[in-house]
Amino acid sequence: MVISCKQASGALSAARVRELTELDRACVWHPFTQEATAPPPIPIVSGRGAWLQAADGRRFLDMISSWWLCVHGHAQPVIAEAIARQARELEQVIFAGFTHEPAVRLAQRLTRLLPEGLTRVFFSDNGSTSVEVALKMAIQYHRNRGEKRFRIGVLEGGYHGDTVGAMSVGRSSGFFDVFGDYLFQVDTFAFPATWEADDGVEVREAEVLAAVDRYLSEHGSALAAMIVEPLVQGASGMRMCRPVFLQELARRVRLVGGLVIFDEVMTGFGRTGALFASEKAGVVPDIICLSKGLTGGFMPMAVTVCSQMLYEAFLGDTFDRALAHGHSFTANPLGCAAALASLDLFETGEPLRRCKVLEDIHRERLQELCHHPRVIKPRCTGVIAALNVVAAGQGGYTAVVGQKFKQFFLDRGFLIRPLGDVIYLLPPYCLTGEELHSAWDVIVEALNVVE
Ligand SMILES: *Cc1c(COP(=O)(O)O)cnc(C)c1O
Repeated sequence: MVISCKQASGALSAARVRELTELDRACVWHPFTQEATAPPPIPIVSGRGAWLQAADGRRFLDMISSWWLCVHGHAQPVIAEAIARQARELEQVIFAGFTHEPAVRLAQRLTRLLPEGLTRVFFSDNGSTSVEVALKMAIQYHRNRGEKRFRIGVLEGGYHGDTVGAMSVGRSSGFFDVFGDYLFQVDTFAFPATWEADDGVEVREAEVLAAVDRYLSEHGSALAAMIVEPLVQGASGMRMCRPVFLQELARRVRLVGGLVIFDEVMTGFGRTGALFASEKAGVVPDIICLSKGLTGGFMPMAVTVCSQMLYEAFLGDTFDRALAHGHSFTANPLGCAAALASLDLFETGEPLRRCKVLEDIHRERLQELCHHPRVIKPRCTGVIAALNVVAAGQGGYTAVVGQKFKQFFLDRGFLIRPLGDVIYLLPPYCLTGEELHSAWDVIVEALNVVE
């Protein structure tokens, strides 16, 4: 059922590859890319399991699930078939005043799988919009109840997407300084990142919680919500924190009447070893955001799921109490069909079993690396493993060393894309143990030779 087939369909002629590359250069603008200096993008023709087939005949092992999306690997046949079937029945219908079975079934199944109390599903189409929806829900919830709460709390390094609200709550990630003047104010607290054999974490957590306490005693009654990437901050470098910290943070926020928003756009669907990080953290948030793995990476779709109490605050006689938000593609039936098929795969238990196998290999290999002179802060949560590389020059997302490592990996057939000086793996569940070992081998090789 879960495939790890290495044969993907065919390469193109050298002339077609050249034509594609030139056309791309002429008309396409790529995301998060300095187009003036980046090497030309690599045309891909197909994917099977963890493997990508390039047009020029090369193959790449996708060790980051293509930006964290393809949780079951590429072209998973059960999901592909479900989308094809749905496309022949109903490809799209307006979702205001109308509904359809794939959306209703998906909402029901998600609410059963999510931590108890998260009962209402609002659909949108990407991670950023799921965060915008969560923020608007939180703000209007208090307003509908006649409370003046305008403050939003965030953790330093959090990344929540690229739309204006999402940039505002993610401004400390450092990606959005150009737009600083246009972003709204948030209140930022340090993130007590931790790693293997870290003996300072309790002190750091206590310091953050003390700062939160001081802040809440002054501004608690104005706090609308705190938004958090639970257990793992993705884009800021796979930074990990402990469940106990999230429990203590959530408790404090709730005590003053604030809402807890968990952005599980990346951590959802098994990445941390549990179906949702909330489960593993032992916290039920008031609002949860899901996207990336929701459709197994096949279709752009997201959901924002909230508690019944929150939903009920939007009921009333007038439209101004309603959530005035919606996207053209809300609850797209193809996305819903893909998500339902992906949940079928999860319900076999196989993805989470594979996740455990991969996690054990991660730990074994990190253990070997923890005394390597260039490795600091080795860490692992579920299928996510990361380490920081010691290198000359500047650290952070723009660290040059990351570019060099990325090229080294590509030259050897691996899609591993460091976040600056952080090397991480976030593979699809269909990856074999042997394939994962080969990725760790190439990382070790890179650590020994790439300056
Ligand atoms: C990727 C990501 C987003 C943004 O999702 P998009 O689909 O890229 O808009 C939001 N939050 C987290 C935690 C993410 O990893």
